Amino acid sequence: MNSKTQAPDTVICNGKQFKILLHQDELQRRIAEMGAEISKNYKDKKPIFIGVLNGAFIFMADLLRYVDIPCEVDFYKLSSYGDEKVSSGMVTERKDIDADIAGRHIILVEDIVDTGLSANYIINIVEKKKPASVALVSLLHKPDAIKYHVDVDYVGFNIETLFVLGYGLDYAQEGRNLPHIYVIDEN
Ligand code: 5GP
Repeated sequence: MNSKTQAPDTVICNGKQFKILLHQDELQRRIAEMGAEISKNYKDKKPIFIGVLNGAFIFMADLLRYVDIPCEVDFYKLSSYGDEKVSSGMVTERKDIDADIAGRHIILVEDIVDTGLSANYIINIVEKKKPASVALVSLLHKPDAIKYHVDVDYVGFNIETLFVLGYGLDYAQEGRNLPHIYVIDEN
């Protein structure tokens, strides 16, 4: 147990057991560093942060609180996993961005880059709208799972190719509210 949230070290979600991989304190320390680095690199550029829903909503909210420069926020909604633990290999667009991004500096915010399919798809869409620049920030990255080329400009943590849960990431829509990142416990 931890004092902040009472979240347990192991959880059962939809019948599967998960154990802590990244504690919320570790997440916050790293996200603070990322926010500071982005703030330094985008000083005077008034970037637009575009969060990729649903998974990025908690990370985006925390990251933005560590960004201390003028900026704007928008969201894009995609789904690629369905209710499974492996990517379906198909991306469905559910909500486009509202902002006019032509000539603007764009920072895409992802929860995790796994095969790279979603990030690759969104970057292509965003680039067609003629922004001044596009960068990608992802809390998690599974480098060994990559199948589609994508440059992740800011990575919180590189992790193994294992299914993770919590801090915005779900398993069949559950578990997004867990404060830590958990990994499937196959033992
Ligand atoms: P990709 O398109 O890179 O294969 O996967 C991107 C999306 O799949 C992520 O935004 C996330 O929603 C989902 N995803 C990828 N890996 C995981 C994982 O380990 N756990 C969960 N819960 N979702 C994942």
